[in-house]
Amino acid sequence: MAEVLVVVEASQAGVKKVTLELLTIARELGEPSAVVLGGPGAAAAMSDKLGEYGAQKIYAAESEEIDGHLVAPKATVLANLVTSVSPAAVLLASSQEGKEIAARLAVKLDNGILTDAVGLDADGTATQVVFAGQTIVKSKVTKGIPLVTIRPNSVTPTPAAASPAVENLTVELTDKDKLAQVVNRVAEQKGSRPELTEASIVVSGGRGVGSGDNFKLVEELADLMGAAVGASRAAVDSGFYPHQFQVGQTGKTVSPQLYVALGISGAIQHRAGMQTSKTIVAVNKDEEAPIFELTDFGVVGDLFKVVPQAVEEIRKRKG
Ligand code: FAD
Repeated sequence: MAEVLVVVEASQAGVKKVTLELLTIARELGEPSAVVLGGPGAAAAMSDKLGEYGAQKIYAAESEEIDGHLVAPKATVLANLVTSVSPAAVLLASSQEGKEIAARLAVKLDNGILTDAVGLDADGTATQVVFAGQTIVKSKVTKGIPLVTIRPNSVTPTPAAASPAVENLTVELTDKDKLAQVVNRVAEQKGSRPELTEASIVVSGGRGVGSGDNFKLVEELADLMGAAVGASRAAVDSGFYPHQFQVGQTGKTVSPQLYVALGISGAIQHRAGMQTSKTIVAVNKDEEAPIFELTDFGVVGDLFKVVPQAVEEIRKRKG
């Protein structure tokens, strides 16, 4: 069976959920091999989890140099690996880092690339949502192998037990690879909520929330549902919520199982960041608000009346 390379993304908490999703997709295309690009010991810490989701093999490129520089070394190591093993496809997360590695890899290999896919068929056909969400296209890489970045939450990760052997890669870098060095890492202050782009539920507030203080209501609903909190650009520009939580064309792209929009009109630039969510719920007092064109469940009403009732009901059911 053809080998499919999955580039692993990890945080301090371990393997990111998106990597498990990529392994799930990779199994449709061939035999998944995980590629760990990180500091010493990175692969050993993650091998159980990667095996649990079907990685048959782990390629480990571990060095202080990879850890201590930006993405250029990772792209170099990956390009060498692709040249030597000739995989059937290479899959990366549609994160900032994943897309930059993929772009560099495409240039190094003179290979086509597809980014921000929300699905990938066994024959390498990718589904993308383009033009700020106006159009869905199916595309295939016609030069080289499928090199595809896939948005988090595009599929539900499913386990498939395997016991991967670890193969260590030699890391040989040029001076060019080391031009941008990491000088410091600062952990993001995000408390106990899930990461916005990885969360399976997102509760977002817009200008209709009215103030930063009122966002406590959005947070209360989110916390009860184990959700991440998002915001529209109008809410961010008004100073209600920090920019890192902005959803949309110039913010983050989310694709959760459930997206709840509170006091958000549904401008095209906001939709671009959330419309691939599986189920969309909106509360808006304007029945003509464009967000209702997208919703699976819409409530026409004042969010300050609707959300407290939802909070009370959820609390009751949780006991
Ligand atoms: P509004 O459009 O003002 O809507 C507020 C909504 O709240 C209204 O529908 C109103 O009926 C409702 N409301 C008010 N009070 C209540 C209440 N008590 N209960 C219930 N409903 C209530 N926007 C983004 O979100 N993300 C982006 O990344 C982004 N990028 C952009 C990039 C560019 C280049 C441009 C030009 C714009 C971008 N925008 C982005 C801005 C976008 O065009 C909209 O202006 C923005 O999304 C509007 O945010 P909103 O829906 O919160 O505010």
